[in-house]
Amino acid sequence: MALILEGTKIRDQILSELRPRVEHLTKTRRPPGLAVVLVGNDPASEIYVRNKVKACQDLGIHSEKLTPPASVSTEELLATLDCLNRREDIDGILVQMPLPPQVDSRKVLLAIDPRKDVDGFHPYSVGNLVANAPGPRACTPAGIMDLLRRYEIPVKGKRAVVVGRSDIVGKPMALLLLHQHATVTICHSRTSNLAEECRRADILVAAMGRAAMLTADYIRPGAVVIDVGMNRVTAREEAARILRNDTARMDAFDKKGQLLVGDVNPLDMASISSAYTPVPGGVGPLTIAMLMSNTVGLAEEHIK
Ligand code: NDP
Repeated sequence: MALILEGTKIRDQILSELRPRVEHLTKTRRPPGLAVVLVGNDPASEIYVRNKVKACQDLGIHSEKLTPPASVSTEELLATLDCLNRREDIDGILVQMPLPPQVDSRKVLLAIDPRKDVDGFHPYSVGNLVANAPGPRACTPAGIMDLLRRYEIPVKGKRAVVVGRSDIVGKPMALLLLHQHATVTICHSRTSNLAEECRRADILVAAMGRAAMLTADYIRPGAVVIDVGMNRVTAREEAARILRNDTARMDAFDKKGQLLVGDVNPLDMASISSAYTPVPGGVGPLTIAMLMSNTVGLAEEHIK
């Protein structure tokens, strides 16, 4: 039986360890502060931001939500960031992506003071990541490393394959695994013979955003599988194909009208791997926990 790597359990551990640090900062100086900039009203982004603000409230972190309209210009956003950069009570600044097309996202990203770059996306933070120097790390990959550590899954000397090379998941994930002495292969949409590459993995990280694409052929028996993907399937035929007409699961699909599935087939992952992160309840919960951890870390640095 494969071990289920419970992200929710690890999230709770991370948050409970942060609590005394937040209390200490609040008692001795001031609470950590996070500013979240949400442009426009994209429903998915609104949900993400709501969850982030709620996590701050639960932990006693001061949070502020700024909501410029969808018509905002690059210059207006830069002015907002300039203000936040100067504020003593704000330790972390997060600009929720994606931004509307008229906004130059790169300029916006560069305008965040690297000392307040809570997402770890600023080129300065990326440089620190590449050099394995201290600094905030991208939250999702950092959360995955914490999960592996807490479950005592060895990384050193293992073959890790990361499928996906985005700046926010794939690339930082590969670098973090490399720094822990894994032998790392990064795959992407032009990789020839992806299945063969994946089958070499002791640790397989799937981050493509392709519903249940990695099936039995891609998983080495006994591998540890980390499924970062979050895909919503609403077509019944697709759900039936993924769930192979498993009656109980299809009944659940029919009730909900949707299936939340990762990038790895859930049935194959559970039967072939030695340990895996389920979707939902695996990687997802770790991301916000690491955002809180980065905010507290930056506050401690600033107050020092
Ligand atoms: P991106 O779309 O930015 O990147 C996807 C990557 O996957 C690209 O590098 C792309 O390759 C690669 N890819 C796409 N199709 C294939 C294919 N058929 N074969 C091989 N590689 C492929 O996505 P993100 O990195 O932002 O996110 C990936 C997934 O993780 C999404 O499902 C997202 O929802 C989820 N996610 C989950 C989070 C969580 O907290 N659980 C947080 C962040 C993301 P190429 O570069 O060649 O185009």
